[in-house]
Amino acid sequence: MTKTCGHSFSKSTLEDWLAHKQTCPTCNRPLRPEDVMPNYKLREAIAKYDAFTKYVQEQAKEKERVEQERRAKIKSKKEKLKKRLEEEDEAKKRLDEELKKKQEEDERKRAEGGQDAPVSKHFADSELDLRISRFEHYLNNPPSPTDSIIVGTAC
Ligand SMILES: [Zn+2]
Repeated sequence: MTKTCGHSFSKSTLEDWLAHKQTCPTCNRPLRPEDVMPNYKLREAIAKYDAFTKYVQEQAKEKERVEQERRAKIKSKKEKLKKRLEEEDEAKKRLDEELKKKQEEDERKRAEGGQDAPVSKHFADSELDLRISRFEHYLNNPPSPTDSIIVGTAC
């Protein structure tokens, strides 16, 4: 800072200037090297301003980092959900195909007359034969009143 007019400059700027010209760079008043003194208040203010600027920049960086982290989390969640939906679609497709195959197989069996039908028909026939033979036995050997319990269990 100059003692004569109060203008302020950085030390190196003013030293370079005074090496060529003995005036104030701003107002052009005569200035000798001994008219210059350090401006502590301005230095302090500049230091505070620099610290504040650094703080603001760091805050902005931190905010950006948090925002990016949040976006990454959302993206990852979306991708997981998409993958799960695809897996479920795939599972549903497999089940549909399996069901279709079974239905086709049933259809084919029905068309062929069915492999189960003869077996079940045979079973029904033999069941009927047994009932007929029992009935015939009943006709041929009518129960006496004392046999009623035995007949009851036989039928
Ligand atoms: Zn000046």
